[in-house]
Amino acid sequence: MDTLAAQLLSRRVLEMEESATLKMAQLARNLASQGHQVINLSLGEPDFDTPVHIKEAAKKALDDGYTKYSPVAGLVELRQAIVRKFKRDNDLDFSINQIVVSNGAKQSLANLSLALLNEGDEAVILAPYWVSYYEIVRLGGGKPVVVKAGIEQDFKVTPEQLEAAITPNTKFVLFSSPCNPTGSVYSKEELKGLADVIARYENVFIIADEIYEYINFTDQHASIGAFDNVRERTITVNGFAKGFAMTGWRLGFLGAPAWIAEACTKIQGQITSGANTFAQKAGAYALEADLQPTYQMRDAFQRRRDLTLQLLEDIPGMLCNYPQGAFYVFPDISYYFGKTDGNTIIQNADDLAMYILEQAHVAVVSGSGFGADECLRISFAASDEELIEASRRIKGALGKLY
Ligand code: PMP
Ligand code: GLU
Repeated sequence: MDTLAAQLLSRRVLEMEESATLKMAQLARNLASQGHQVINLSLGEPDFDTPVHIKEAAKKALDDGYTKYSPVAGLVELRQAIVRKFKRDNDLDFSINQIVVSNGAKQSLANLSLALLNEGDEAVILAPYWVSYYEIVRLGGGKPVVVKAGIEQDFKVTPEQLEAAITPNTKFVLFSSPCNPTGSVYSKEELKGLADVIARYENVFIIADEIYEYINFTDQHASIGAFDNVRERTITVNGFAKGFAMTGWRLGFLGAPAWIAEACTKIQGQITSGANTFAQKAGAYALEADLQPTYQMRDAFQRRRDLTLQLLEDIPGMLCNYPQGAFYVFPDISYYFGKTDGNTIIQNADDLAMYILEQAHVAVVSGSGFGADECLRISFAASDEELIEASRRIKGALGKLY
């Protein structure tokens, strides 16, 4: 870093890690712009376009004049649709003043962190975790406390592990299910185990990130906030990016106790205001329209999950779990540590991800940013052809390591 930046930038940003997913996606773009045929399996983004009926709703909203500021917490119409969605899909009872719509689930999480954490507060993050959790907690001034589950437990933390991490300073517990990056899905019984632990600690909240809710191959999405003993203390975050293939629209939301929702609205009101108005109109429509296109995308992801696992089985040292949701596999690749192609020694997952990018021109993300340095994240939100070609190339590159 140049010295001016090191001297003059805030400690906040100097101490912040860049998003590993976005960084890898950019490296892949750079390589592609040099004329290489890069297969990008790094970014967690559906490769499908937004369903036509949702795009039509946004076009109509534009024509109808939805071009002005919306209320900070979101259009009443969208918040009402979210209240109904939470009831319909999740058995969660919110009223409209408990809903805040944001520029993506990422902003919902950032709002929460800024609203809830003080210096010294701890946030328990179940690992492997989504990259931004760690830095968002630090940005809010909190201390991330990571509780890790390895592949041998399907990357799912047990109630005993969770209990051991809770201290008098714990403010909330944060996790995603279906999980980015592992694809693991906590069953209703497993969530009850976690809820029963948290219920014993009066001032501990839960932030349940359910953005992959509709990409669940078990057909059994369960929301931890639906258990009576934690209902009043659970904040459920969700968004349109994954289930509706709307990543670029920037639309997410949360349901929370009213005083937390109010605090998030206050923060958002000073930083970004209400989310894009015509996107919100389309979002309201999407939630209550036919979900068939969403289910079709889910079915395609499930088929690609099976294809990807089958392809990876053919590559030595790729130890996989059986992802039940989202669109990632997260193989343990520690088999390759210490190996070399004669030039580079692979010390860790960062090295292996760079090696695969450089040698195979396939972008995947190191597990280190997700709290699992022995793993790689591979997105299967790509065509069959890309997945087949990527695995062929990865196999070739890894075959040179000894
Ligand atoms: N949570 C998880 C687990 C995610 O994978 C993502 C990916 N973008 C987000 C939150 C943020 O979603 P959004 O694009 O709505 O900000
Ligand atoms: N959530 C996606 C991912 O994990 C998108 C990139 C990002 O926002 O980090 O890759």
